[in-house]
Amino acid sequence: MEISLKNQVALITGSSSGIGAGIAKSLSESGATVVINYPFPGAKEQAEAVLDEISGNGGKGIIYQCDVSKEDEVVKMFQDIIRDLGTIDILVNNAGIQKDAKFMEMTLDQWNAVISVNLTGQFLCAREAIKEFLRRGIDPAKSVACGKIIHISSVHEIIPWAGHANYASSKGAIRMLMQTLAQEYGADRIRVNSICPGAIQTPINTTAWDTKEALDSLLTLIPYNRIGQPADIGNLAVFLASDMSDYITGASIFIDGGMTTFESFSTGG
Ligand code: NAD
Repeated sequence: MEISLKNQVALITGSSSGIGAGIAKSLSESGATVVINYPFPGAKEQAEAVLDEISGNGGKGIIYQCDVSKEDEVVKMFQDIIRDLGTIDILVNNAGIQKDAKFMEMTLDQWNAVISVNLTGQFLCAREAIKEFLRRGIDPAKSVACGKIIHISSVHEIIPWAGHANYASSKGAIRMLMQTLAQEYGADRIRVNSICPGAIQTPINTTAWDTKEALDSLLTLIPYNRIGQPADIGNLAVFLASDMSDYITGASIFIDGGMTTFESFSTGG
C-alpha cells in the first residue's frame, strides 16, 4: 500500500547528516515538503547536499539553520517555517550529540551539552509544534490527526550505557517526555511516538564500524547480523507520520536488528 504525505510539511531537526538526512529523504519520497535543519554555518553545505538530492528526485524542501537547544532560535524557526510554508504537520525530533566520559570524569559542560541538545531541544521543538498543531486544527485533506511528533530516542532508552551517562539519561527522559505528551494531547488527536534505533551507520558512531574489528565486535550484539542504515529508520518514520499508524501513540518502537533481545543471552546466559 502506498503511503502519501502529500501537502504535509515535515521539520526534521539535525538532518544534514545521518539518520536525520535519511528520514528527510524518506519523508520527501512520500510527498512531504521537508525542512532540513542544521545547527551552525559549518553544516550548511551538508544540508544543501541533502536538499539537492531531494530536489533531484523531484522532492520539495528548504534548509534552515537553528541550534535546537536555544529557545529564541527554535521559536524563530517555527515562526519562519509557518510564514514561508504555511504550517508544520510533522515534527521529527532527531538532533542529538554524544560527549562521552567515564562518569567520575564527566564535566558539567559535557553533561549540560548533551542534555541541552538531546532533551531540551526535543522539549522546545515539541512545544512549538504542538502550539502550531492546535492553532491550525485537523485538516482532513491531509491527515486524520492534528499533528504527528516523532522523537528519535535510542535503545539506550532502556539499555544502560557505561561511559555515556549523559546520553543514556537524555534518552531515558525522552521516553517520559514522549508518553506525557501522548497522554496530554491524545484527545486533541496529536500523535506522539518514539523511534529507538540500535546501531545505525552514521557519523555519530564511526568508531563502532569503521574497522573490521570494530564492526565484528558490534555485530556480536545484533542477532540480525548487520548494521542498520538511515533508510531503515526513514521507512519507520514514514509509517509513523502517516495515517496508517493512526492508532499508535505513546509508543517506543525499537528498530535494532534484535539488539534489545540481549544477544549475549543466546547461548543460555
Ligand atoms: P549524526 O551525528 O549524523 O546526526 C546528528 C545531527 O544532529 C547532526 O546532523 C548534527 O548537525 C545535528 N545537531 C547536533 N547538535 C545540534 C543542535 N544543537 N541543533 C540542531 N542540530 C544539531 O548522528 P545520527 O546517528 O544520525 O544521530 C541522529 C539521532 O539518532 C540522534 O538523536 C542520536 O542520538 C540518535 N541515535 C543514533 C543511533 C546510531 O546508531 N547512529 C542510535 C540510536 C539513536
